[in-house]
Amino acid sequence: MISMAGNLYLVPTPIGNLEDMTYRAVRVLGEVDLILAEDTRHTQKLLNHFAISTKQLSFHEHNTQERIPEILTKLREGIHMAQVSDAGTPSISDPGVELVQAAIQAGIKVIPLPGANAAITALIASGLKVQPFTFWGFLPRKKQERLSMLERGYKQAVTGIYYESPHRINKLLEEVESVFGPDRRIAIGRELTKSYEEFLRGRLADLRQETSDKVWKGELVVVIEGQGEAVEEKQEVINDKPEDIRKAIEKAVSEGVKANQAMKEVAKRLGKNKREVYRIYHDLD
Ligand code: SAM
Repeated sequence: MISMAGNLYLVPTPIGNLEDMTYRAVRVLGEVDLILAEDTRHTQKLLNHFAISTKQLSFHEHNTQERIPEILTKLREGIHMAQVSDAGTPSISDPGVELVQAAIQAGIKVIPLPGANAAITALIASGLKVQPFTFWGFLPRKKQERLSMLERGYKQAVTGIYYESPHRINKLLEEVESVFGPDRRIAIGRELTKSYEEFLRGRLADLRQETSDKVWKGELVVVIEGQGEAVEEKQEVINDKPEDIRKAIEKAVSEGVKANQAMKEVAKRLGKNKREVYRIYHDLD
């Protein structure tokens, strides 16, 4: 028997730059019978831009449960639908997952389209190990829950990706430093794909110092190196010879650590005092 049910398409939309809409996304949104949108007014602007006249139905985190039976009925009747969120990939820190589960269970064909996503966009330019990684999304609002999730992240030997809003970023960085320590490398991707796109990369303590006066604006992704990498780096043996000491400092500096901090760390690792390492580095004897 040929199934007459409609398909459920999952369609990513741009995270800032409208050129990131794919040809396929435009075609599918134009061809389906109904678009399930997180905010229909927001999505209407996108549809207008691409001259798409498909009708919309609101589908967001507050009406997910009541909408699902109605949506499944329409799909069973043969209505093809596309689900979008306000920006990026549906279900990624956005509504969608419950609908996908219900559709799969109901035997509906679920067709995902690849497309814009802030986490992966930040990850590939972070300069940190790209895989394996854990995507954490937004951390919980309650402090204890947030700290315990950060603890879980700290123990992982993989890169971690977090979403955060600009007015909570300083607090988050403070908490990240208290859990991960000052040496963990991080990268922050801000306003990705937009005209003010910016990347900040470095040791946590340095980055916090550099941004202490910064007024954070726009959307942010925080990428934190995994414990494996950090531990591996710390375990690298430095020989006591002057040329090896200079090399270790130069390597840290080339990775974004300030010279002063690098000398301090090398001194600590060799059990020497910092002045001695300073003299070796600057060839003062
Ligand atoms: N579904 C989206 C995706 O695929 O990335 C994520 C939606 S979530 C509600 C919004 C969060 O994603 C923001 O608070 C920010 O952390 C991140 N984000 C979205 N757009 C971004 C951008 N252009 N630059 C940096 N981060 C962004």
